[in-house]
Amino acid sequence: MGEPILLKCVGCGREFAPEPSLFTCPDCGPSGTLDVLYDYDRVSELLTRESLDKSREFSIWRYLPLLPVAHDTPRTPLTVGWTPLYRTESLGSEIGCPDLFLKDDGRNPTASFKDRASAVGIAKAMESGNNIITCASTGNAASSLAGLCASLGLRSVIFVPATAPRAKIAQLLVYGARIVLVEGTYDQAFDLCYDTAQSCAWYCRNTGINPYLSEGKKTAALEIAEHLNWEAPDKVFVSVGDGCIIGGLWKGFHDLLEIGLLDRMPQIIGVQAEGCQPIRQAIETGKPVEPVSPDTIADSISVGRPRDALKAVRAIRNSGGFALAVPDEEILDAMRTLGRSTGIFGEPAGVTGFAGLRQALRDGLVRSDERVVVLITGNGLKDVDSALKAVGEPPRAKPDLDEIRKVVEEHYPECL
Ligand SMILES: *Cc1c(COP(=O)(O)O)cnc(C)c1O
Ligand SMILES: [Zn+2]
Repeated sequence: MGEPILLKCVGCGREFAPEPSLFTCPDCGPSGTLDVLYDYDRVSELLTRESLDKSREFSIWRYLPLLPVAHDTPRTPLTVGWTPLYRTESLGSEIGCPDLFLKDDGRNPTASFKDRASAVGIAKAMESGNNIITCASTGNAASSLAGLCASLGLRSVIFVPATAPRAKIAQLLVYGARIVLVEGTYDQAFDLCYDTAQSCAWYCRNTGINPYLSEGKKTAALEIAEHLNWEAPDKVFVSVGDGCIIGGLWKGFHDLLEIGLLDRMPQIIGVQAEGCQPIRQAIETGKPVEPVSPDTIADSISVGRPRDALKAVRAIRNSGGFALAVPDEEILDAMRTLGRSTGIFGEPAGVTGFAGLRQALRDGLVRSDERVVVLITGNGLKDVDSALKAVGEPPRAKPDLDEIRKVVEEHYPECL
């Protein structure tokens, strides 16, 4: 149960039997990312509406027959996935999209979507007998790997840019990771991590290189479909850095189509920051993805050379979706709007999908009767400095009743 039957190169289509050392296609090199494919007939017998209705496993593991992990592989005891899908009708009506749902993946154990991928990556490392796991990260993949490794007593060696937000670095330190702060970009950290992993024989959880991460990330699509009672939404908006989340979402919907639990693919919309939009440019021009020099406040999607580009582009094209880029000010504005009207606090990349929805509505790319799901991919507490840029500092007062009254009159007259 839950064993992959084959790996298939997204670039050239060559198929391989899975083995622990096989990460990308030997013919295509690191850009030849691999799909994990299953015996879908068999899975459709194991994973049914009825089996899921009875399941009491409220985490990504409820979909084990569709995951590349053996049933007896040790897994993190932390609860990953099964995050809430909130119906946010009043915010939706305000922006012209009443049938709006927000999926808050900041609710994962280390507070980002990355936990879905780390949980599966770590299980694969355990199956291969390697208990030192490494990754390069803009921050969240790192804190996720570190936290989930800590939960199983495994070692993690982490490469992050020295400019990563302090809360993410604090998480790493608290989880006891071995950390290298690379004085360079994420793209440089990625290559350094990959080469060091080869020479030290560490298990590599790098995005795009490791084919099993998309399988973890696809669980969000499975949850969306199940929460919506097996009816596909019209559109799903998500922020894009390396392209693993968006590729994983497509794969999740694809797998559900294969086993007959869904009857159509939602349109998948990838949102990038204006200062870093290589995937969007590739979609616009129809050309292969070209590297860029990133410049955006949204650190988690500040990825100049997307490593999961093939899967990302396929997700958008094959689903009939599109790609957008939003300015940093819109991202900060999305943070404020979501916080104020829903109580969901997302980090900049976490709310970029929502900023994209607002832009798409302004541009007439979404009809008001469509059902839309937006993924919130990371918690705002991970980057408090950016949050403060979005909202400014609060007023101060001496501990004196008259002073307090003055502050209220001046700043909050609507409360009098
Ligand atoms: C990693 C990340 C993304 C982008 O995911 P990719 O798989 O790199 O495209 C978006 N938001 C947050 C909060 C992230 O941590
Ligand atoms: Zn290939």
